[in-house]
Amino acid sequence: MLRLLKRFVLCESPTDSKPAVDHFGRLIAAEWKKRGAKSEFLRQTRAGNHVRVAWPAMLAHRPGISARAGQILVLGHLDTVYDLGTIKKMPFRVTRDRAFGPGIFDMKGGLVIALFAAEALAHVGWLPRSRIVFLWTSDEETGSKSSREVIEREARRSLAVLVLEPANGPKGKLKTRRKAVGTAELIITGRAAHAGLDPGAGVNAVHELALQAARLMLLNNPRRGITVNPTIAQGGTRSNVIAAEARLTIDLRAETIGDMRRIERKLKTLRAILPGARIAVQGGFSRPPLERRASAALFSQARELAHELGFSVDECLAGGGSDGNFTAALGVPTLDGLGAVGEAAHSPAEQVIISALPARAALLASLLATL
Ligand SMILES: [Zn+2]
Repeated sequence: MLRLLKRFVLCESPTDSKPAVDHFGRLIAAEWKKRGAKSEFLRQTRAGNHVRVAWPAMLAHRPGISARAGQILVLGHLDTVYDLGTIKKMPFRVTRDRAFGPGIFDMKGGLVIALFAAEALAHVGWLPRSRIVFLWTSDEETGSKSSREVIEREARRSLAVLVLEPANGPKGKLKTRRKAVGTAELIITGRAAHAGLDPGAGVNAVHELALQAARLMLLNNPRRGITVNPTIAQGGTRSNVIAAEARLTIDLRAETIGDMRRIERKLKTLRAILPGARIAVQGGFSRPPLERRASAALFSQARELAHELGFSVDECLAGGGSDGNFTAALGVPTLDGLGAVGEAAHSPAEQVIISALPARAALLASLLATL
């Protein structure tokens, strides 16, 4: 597993480099081919190509057992957040039980786990009851713009979705809930005027921005997991000119669909506070929440299977979104965080725990075998 993980990490695949992501997609398709699966490239013009691996339910050919309709969808992404060449500053390396490198935890480790889970099932001759589709997408790290449609299409025909995003913490907690995530932008228009000669003729967009930011603060509700955070503020042109324009970027998070809708409504009804100022709101939530009712049954199955395998898995809430948010919102049972155990995703210290890789592959194999 470690040898394959090294090859995957060395093959850099930043979201914004189509040639690099496509190259990595071909590498992973070749690995699946070696294991008897068929890959299909879902070609994209600007984003990298997505790779769809189908593992047919061959039980149909066995007497007395028929393949079930429907399929199991396993989701992962090929792309990383690291620019090409990062591997030189952040080389693949192993120290004791840890392996380091760009994208190793999020989520090349998960991609290796999937290959070994399928290999293990084939090795013991235990064919799954449903067709399994492994969908490796190219743009998860930038919001899945080119892949959302195909993810939702595959999810609609699936009995369950298993997501190979990193596990949480050193014990490898599964992610049974994820927050809804979004970005909104407040565009504020005032009126320019000389700050000294004729200040009364102006409408200060930066003042308006400050008043709006203070009002947005009231939408936060940490107890309910709602956060509304202005993250970028821009405005004005010259030190002696009343600011005619300002912009505020706002990070949005919520734990339930209801709260997500409420925040969206509040944003839509924002009105200017200063006389003469105008505001417009763009954007909003881009990923709905993954609520526990979508993951509860799969999680208890995973917990029992882990127990049989000799370890325990716990669950947690993740503040960030993943493609599992899309599938859960369609009402398809979804379990996330089935990938590698490690820490420091999206940072120079990104790492996985090597000894946890086989156990995670065993857990995924057991889920595939019993779903
Ligand atoms: Zn990821």
